[in-house]
Amino acid sequence: MSSRIAFRTRSELEIMDDGYKWRKYGKKSVKNSPNLRNYYKCSFEGCNVKKTVERDRDDSSYVITTYDSVHNHESPFSTSYTQISSFLSSDS
Ligand SMILES: [Zn+2]
Repeated sequence: MSSRIAFRTRSELEIMDDGYKWRKYGKKSVKNSPNLRNYYKCSFEGCNVKKTVERDRDDSSYVITTYDSVHNHESPFSTSYTQISSFLSSDS
């Protein structure tokens, strides 16, 4: 079972501070897109959450972040995480 959530966020930065620590493990070029897709894995031991980050190919002022699965631990940072403006994507 895996749950996948995608956020589309207007941002200059491709990496948003979401309260977790991530380790980059790869990147790949995407078909029909000039932008690379970057792959990250949660750096918490035993946690298998992955995320991908890429620029929206239709509007490069947006960044699409996709989370795969859910963290099995608390955020390593004590700062509260406020929900960024986002919507659920159904990856059509
Ligand atoms: Zn995690």
